[in-house]
Amino acid sequence: MKITIVYDNCTAKAGLRTGWGFAAFLQTENAAPLLFDTGADGAALLYNMRKLGIDPGRIGIIVISHAHGDHTGGLPSILEINKDAEIYVPASTIVGIRGKKVTLVSKPLQISEGIFSTGELKGIEQSLAVRTDKGVVVVAGCSHSGVGAILDAASCHGKVYGIIGGLHGFRDFDRLDGLSLICPCHCTQHKSELRSLFPEQYVACGAGLELEL
Ligand SMILES: [Zn+2]
Ligand SMILES: [Zn+2]
Repeated sequence: MKITIVYDNCTAKAGLRTGWGFAAFLQTENAAPLLFDTGADGAALLYNMRKLGIDPGRIGIIVISHAHGDHTGGLPSILEINKDAEIYVPASTIVGIRGKKVTLVSKPLQISEGIFSTGELKGIEQSLAVRTDKGVVVVAGCSHSGVGAILDAASCHGKVYGIIGGLHGFRDFDRLDGLSLICPCHCTQHKSELRSLFPEQYVACGAGLELEL
């Protein structure tokens, strides 16, 4: 699995735009290219995708983690270009999305080969559990539903190798013991504590970061 951060509060590569919010592009061998969240601003999202050589027209699946504007704001711009992508949104919070095929997610489900939604946890947010050669990788938007609950939900797909995404105010740091990859993005408040507690596992997030897992 290759994950590319396309929208974040920080950059990992010169020349990309930053913005409050999160979006990540996932490519796996057997599944359609997937965009997870869309950042706050469509123009910045499309700019970064162009710079990173990602064609929005090729996205087969769009997953929205939760209804906050810093994760949904770029969606209309993507849908103007790509009218065919399947869209997965949390059932209770998002309304009025136009698209060819929109799936309202409440329970855990398989999105495509090796890619699963945790389901809408705590009535607010879904995260991804992706099976990779190294183990299960969690991709999260803001983790409003709680990092512990997300890791528990993901672990039914195998041993969790790592977590990538916004961790918000998370500070129950013991919950990350045993992970091999900790890549806090976007709204994570305690990045410096995470970096000093997990120096080997820590990867700095930012738009343009590419990880092969
Ligand atoms: Zn949020
Ligand atoms: Zn957010």
